[in-house]
Amino acid sequence: MTTYQKSSLQEIVQTLQNGQKWLTENFREWLGGQEFTDEDRRLFDAGLERWERFERLYQATAPTICIWGNNKKCPSGAPVVCVVCETPTHE
Ligand SMILES: [Zn+2]
Repeated sequence: MTTYQKSSLQEIVQTLQNGQKWLTENFREWLGGQEFTDEDRRLFDAGLERWERFERLYQATAPTICIWGNNKKCPSGAPVVCVVCETPTHE
């Protein structure tokens, strides 16, 4: 029996969506030449780590659709994408 509390799938998906938005915005600023302080960098890494942790939870549910829903895709240009979008399709 597991002792940790399990997040619901909806919570996981929500966290991934919000986290991806946050990471994308910050990543864009970074690429845009915005000064990144050590603190920013630390926050970004922490956000990324958190995202990956939730992504593994999502992965464990053996998802067949993107975190954004059926027939949707993670935005291109996002520094992270969900496991479904990560797996190349036949194209
Ligand atoms: Zn996706």
